[in-house]
Order: sequence, then structure tokens, then C-alpha cells
Amino acid sequence: MNEVKRPKKPLIYYYSIVVLILLLFNFLAMPWIAQRQVREVDYGTFMDMAENHELGQVEVDQQENQIIFTNKEGTAIYKTGMIPDPDLKQMLRDSGAQFEGEIIQQTDPLLSFLLTWVLPIVIFVAIGQYMSNRMMKNAGGPNAMMFGKSNAKVYVKSSVGIRFSDVAGEDEAKDSLKEIVEYLHDPSKYREIGATMPKGILLVGPPGTGKTMLAKAVAGEANVPFFSMSGSEFVEMFVGMGASKVRDLFKQAKEKAPCIVFIDEIDAIGKKRDGQLGGNDEREQTLNQLLTEMDGFEENTGVIILAATNRPESLDPALTRPGRFDRRIPVELPDLKGREDILKVHAKKIKVAQEVDWNKIARMASGASGAELANIVNEAALRAVRDGRQYATQADLEESIEVVIAGYQKKNAILTDQEKKVVAYHEIGHALVAARQTNSAPVTKITIIPRTSGALGYTMQVDEGNRYLMSQEELENKIATLTGGRAAEELVFHSASTGASNDIEQATKLARAMITRYGMSKDFDMVALETMQNQYLGGDISLACSADTAAEIDKLVVALVKREHEKAYRILEENRAKLDELAQYLYEKETITGEEFMAILNQK
Ligand code: ADP
Repeated sequence: MNEVKRPKKPLIYYYSIVVLILLLFNFLAMPWIAQRQVREVDYGTFMDMAENHELGQVEVDQQENQIIFTNKEGTAIYKTGMIPDPDLKQMLRDSGAQFEGEIIQQTDPLLSFLLTWVLPIVIFVAIGQYMSNRMMKNAGGPNAMMFGKSNAKVYVKSSVGIRFSDVAGEDEAKDSLKEIVEYLHDPSKYREIGATMPKGILLVGPPGTGKTMLAKAVAGEANVPFFSMSGSEFVEMFVGMGASKVRDLFKQAKEKAPCIVFIDEIDAIGKKRDGQLGGNDEREQTLNQLLTEMDGFEENTGVIILAATNRPESLDPALTRPGRFDRRIPVELPDLKGREDILKVHAKKIKVAQEVDWNKIARMASGASGAELANIVNEAALRAVRDGRQYATQADLEESIEVVIAGYQKKNAILTDQEKKVVAYHEIGHALVAARQTNSAPVTKITIIPRTSGALGYTMQVDEGNRYLMSQEELENKIATLTGGRAAEELVFHSASTGASNDIEQATKLARAMITRYGMSKDFDMVALETMQNQYLGGDISLACSADTAAEIDKLVVALVKREHEKAYRILEENRAKLDELAQYLYEKETITGEEFMAILNQK
């Protein structure tokens, strides 16, 4: 779709040009004009001209003590200082000049009026006209929105718009939105039966899951104009500007109905009004205006408002009540099938080898959003070009997932021999503990090539299918696996290294969540001890318990992690021979696959 943007030059820019022109005019042109009009000459010249009968009109200005006169033809004006001369009258009479009752204007009054009043106004008007013409032209003619207060971008109707088929996965969201498309195609069908379409639809989900895309796809499918504006664009420095932008946006939307208005990041204006000191007046006014506008237009006018946010809990309840944004569509992170579809959609844009196993890539990229998957595919294409291949291969895709997870390979990071050994044992420790616990996901890859993220090596575990639930046992096993790296170091080198900091962080987080949120401790049973905010933006945790309980929780977390750590140590102790063998193998190879790992592990 064509996005029409309005280029902006600050108004001050035009005004300064006008002022500059006026100043130049006054300083240069005016004195020049004045000079051209009256030429100062000496008294002798005046007398000579009188004697030679060259004078035209003469005016004696007693007050200024000067004589102003013209030549015979009246084409030039002169002036000269007056000298007391009793013969002056006689001399003038003899010269044949006209001097009685005639007044010579130094400058033409009409000309001076034109120059000082009319010309500046004409300049102002011309520049104003020029500016508005330019804006009209830039805004793209009658189809687009104009010169108003809202800067909503319009995606003009076009046949090459984004379609539902471009948005992979997200089937539930698409189903909900298909109804809207249907309605925009034929509102009468709905009117007849008395059904009303929701005025507003809220798309809720983590960043990069395709909310904007879905909104554009609705417009593309319904083939209607698409107004798009971000919540933050409404918020201005001056109170009231945002509100007038909202008014303006809705006015235009109604003119263009049926159409879709999309407000991205609506939480920027839709936050709860809490009346706190130092509250944001401008934002509240904007929100009030939005509420009023949404009430203002009747149902079935054909204006559908879509809004996206990843902080639905912060929205004002007045905004989410029925009659305004009365439908909420979750746009979640894609599941395995969704990820595979998204990868395939984006793979159409690049050249890929035939034999790529998309399912495997999708499994490896667990937890990735649509935007991240698009990025992974593009990284693979870039890598193929870098290595001089014609198309991206499976290896490119796998490597690009690792790049997204762990950063690029550090080509010349030099580990000492001892360090390399420690890292090899550490990684095999993770993998071995994972493999020996029946319920842990299989290991697919282990590498000890340092990455730019700072990881010196890592073990990639990939789930076979979608996971929606995890049992207590699985979570405990996961903690054990996380502690497996450090356990191996302790077992083999009898010392600890700094390499386990990330494992420690993750293990603690998991253990804490088990106790405070999943009710997996005997002591606290099913009591929520923490609440989660911003679930789509990483999830901030806040404790909801007394200080005593918090201390108790800490003890339980420590005990749980310790228990799993000991379990991991035990597992490794029992498999010491395999640990050594695998670590040596990894040390030599630097990267080994899950199959190689399992083959060695299962050798008798
Ligand atoms: P959001 O508005 O949810 O933050 P966007 O709609 O802007 O995310 O998506 C960003 C990019 O991610 C899109 O341009 C697209 O390339 C990719 N993307 C996200 N979700 C999908 C999807 N379901 N199918 C295909 N591409 C997707």
C-alpha cells in the first residue's frame, strides 16, 4: 500500500524568509529608490540651470530652508540648500520656471503607499498560498488526508495491499477479523438483522507478533482506506492539541467511511486516569476526546477502529468497556505450526535450498515472535550471500537462529587450553544431566565456540512438539540441567568458574516461580505470593506477601536449587566415564550434534 506522508518544514522557516525579504527591501531598495528620486546639488548648479532656462517646477521650502526643483522635462528632481538671495524671485521669473502654488512631491504618495503597505501584504499572501499548495500536493490529492491537525497516515486503497495470506499462523485472530472484513464488504446484511459491529477492536499481544500486519490485512482484504496513527503521535506539548487531532482524525474517517482507523500503541493515550499529582493533562484530554468520539458516531457507519497494545492491563476501563473497544483479540506468540508457517511465508522472499526442514527450524526457534522469525530468515539469506552461495541452506538457517540467540561467532577469541577444557566439561555437564533425566528434552547441538553475546559455549535443547504445560518434575529436571554445567566443573576440577552466571540466574528464576506462582511447594500450597505485570513485555514480578514470608520463600528457593544441584552432581558422578569421553570429543570437535552425542552416550 502507498503510505502518504506529509513532509514538514517548520512554519518559522517561512516566516523568517518573509522577514528577511522585508528587511533587505527596507535597507537596500528604499534608500535607493529615494535616492533616485531626489538628487542633491549645489546652489551654483541651481543658478546655472535657472540662467539656461532649464528649470521645470520649483518649490521653495522655507521651513526646511531648501529649494526643490525639477528639470525642464520633469524627469529628475533636485534639491539644494537656500542662500538668502533678494533676486531669487526675479531670477526664477526670468528663467520661465513654474513656482507659484506648485508643490513637487519628493516621492510619489501612491508609490510609497504601495511599497510600504501593499507589497509586504502581497508577499505574505503569496508565501501563504505557496505553502498551502505545496502541502496539498504532498498529501497526494483528493484521496489522502489534508492539511488538518491530525497527521494520520493514510494507506490509500490499493490492489497490492497486505492480505490475510501474508500473515501466517494467528488463525484465531484472523477468524475474528474476517467477520469485520465481511461487514465492511456488505454492511447491509448486518443492518437488516439488527446486528451491530463492534466499534473498536483491541489487538493484544507481545511485540512483533503481527498486530500491525493484521490491521493492514483487514484493510487490504476489505479494500477500504486505512488510517494509521500511533498513540504517541497524539500527545503534544500543548494541552488540547491531541484532542483536536483526535477530532480531526474521526472527522476524516467519517468522510471516508467505510474505512479502518488503526491506532498503534494505544496505551500511550489510553492509560488509566488516576488523578495523581502531576498527572498528564494533555493525555487525559486526548483520551476523553477519544472516548467522546467513539460514543459520537452511530453504529454501522462503517468506521472500524482497530488498536494495538502490549500493555492491556494499563488501559483505562472506560476505553475497554462495551460500546468502545468491546472486542479483544489476543495475538500471541506463534506455536510450532505457526512458527513453521511464518518461516515459510518469509522464505518465499528469499532463495532457499529444497531440502530445508522447516519443522526443525521452527522447533529450534521456540519462543520466537513473528518479527524475530522474519529476522532469522533474512539473516540466513545474508549469510548465504556472505559465503557466496546462490541460496540459503539448512545450515544457514540454523546458524542464524544461533546468531539471534547467542550472537555471532567470535572468530578470534582465544581461549587457553585449560579454559577450553572447562567449557567443554561445562557444556557436556548440561547435556548429560539433560539426557539422563528421562523427561528432559533431547539435546540437538553442543558447541564451545565463543559468541559475541559473551557465551563461551552452549547446549541447545529442542522440544519435540508444542509445550503448553510443564509438570513439577519437568521443571525440577530443568533446574538440574541448568546446574549440570557447574556440577561437572566441581566434579572434575574441584573448583567453580564464572561461566555459570546465566545458568544460576535462570535456575533461580524457575525455582522462585515454582514456589511463588505455580504453587509447587508444600509450605505455601496454592497461595499466590507474587503477581506478574506487563506479561507481554517480559513480565515484571512484584512480591505480594509479608517480609517474613519473603524470607521463607528465599529459604525454599535455595533448598530447591541445592537439591537439584546435588542431583545433577550425582548423575554426573555415576556417568563419570561418559562425561570424560564426551568432553574430550567436544574439546576436539568444538561443535557436535545431538546424534553424535547420543551415539557416544549409548555406546557400551
Ligand atoms: P506488532 O505490531 O505486533 O509489533 P508487526 O505487525 O509490526 O508487529 O510485525 C513486525 C514484522 O514481523 C512484520 O513486518 C512481519 O515481517 C513479521 N511478522 C510478525 N508476525 C507475522 C506473521 N504472523 N506472519 C508473517 N510475518 C509476521
